[in-house]
Amino acid sequence: MKFLESRKVSFVPLRPKFTDMILTDTHTHLYSEEFGTERDAMMQRAFEAGVQRLFVPSIDSSYTQKMLDLEAHYPHNVFLMMGLHPCYVKPETFEKELAWVESQLNSHTYYAVGEIGIDLYWDKTTLAIQQAAFRQQIRWAKARKLPINIHCRDAFDEVFDVLESESSAELFGIFHCFTGDFDQAQRAIGLGMKLGIGGVATFKNGKIDQFLNQIDIEHIVLETDAPYLAPVPHRGKRNESSYTVLVAQKLAEIYGCTVAEIAEKTTENSKNIRRGRNMSHVFSLVESELVIKRKDFYAGAYSPVTKK
Ligand SMILES: [Zn+2]
Repeated sequence: MKFLESRKVSFVPLRPKFTDMILTDTHTHLYSEEFGTERDAMMQRAFEAGVQRLFVPSIDSSYTQKMLDLEAHYPHNVFLMMGLHPCYVKPETFEKELAWVESQLNSHTYYAVGEIGIDLYWDKTTLAIQQAAFRQQIRWAKARKLPINIHCRDAFDEVFDVLESESSAELFGIFHCFTGDFDQAQRAIGLGMKLGIGGVATFKNGKIDQFLNQIDIEHIVLETDAPYLAPVPHRGKRNESSYTVLVAQKLAEIYGCTVAEIAEKTTENSKNIRRGRNMSHVFSLVESELVIKRKDFYAGAYSPVTKK
């Protein structure tokens, strides 16, 4: 893809300029067309705000090359996921798309399978193939000991059905853009998921701010879902990863602590997605580069500062 090649490689600070916090945006569509020619400036704003670890979900095969280009451009900061988004599960193409996901998982290091799940807001007619695609991708994640990143819209019961039937020590991940109620939060956590909290927590009618303080912070990770769902005061406008700070500020209010503490805790959580799960057998595989990289990542050593 051309969109990054034309630019000079910009200097990526290993420490942010204005802050020592390391924030993690666990879900950001950095490749979105919405950023256009402003992409590098947007990335610099994120770094300067302390947002140094950015996890990029896949939508479908048409974005894979852009994602790989971004990773090549920002190798210390950008971590890719691979998966087929539920809104892109279409009868004519989903089998080919799933084959692409599997071949990518087999040929490149991805840090999660996502975003995957069920969306009944946009299209109810594809429910059966959405369920099948979700289940298949969960199984690929489990076989590779990778976390999943779940997209769920108007489909809590359907998503929980699949998660419950696939539940095992190998199933863990993040419930991206979590917008459920307290009971649903408990249920998601019980199934090995962390809650991805973003701009919705800052909305007046967002509701999740009302019970989050009853959820242990260890189950929470931050995200933006940029370019969508911008937090207040940018609600309705284009979102970007530097706004992760605004979500952290809201959580600091909710939990009665400092933004620095939220940053530290949620970044640590993002490195411990599989906490509470049986990990004893996880890394006893062949010492390939892939395994070493994943091992460091989950051991928490995979911060941008130490990543080689
Ligand atoms: Zn997304």
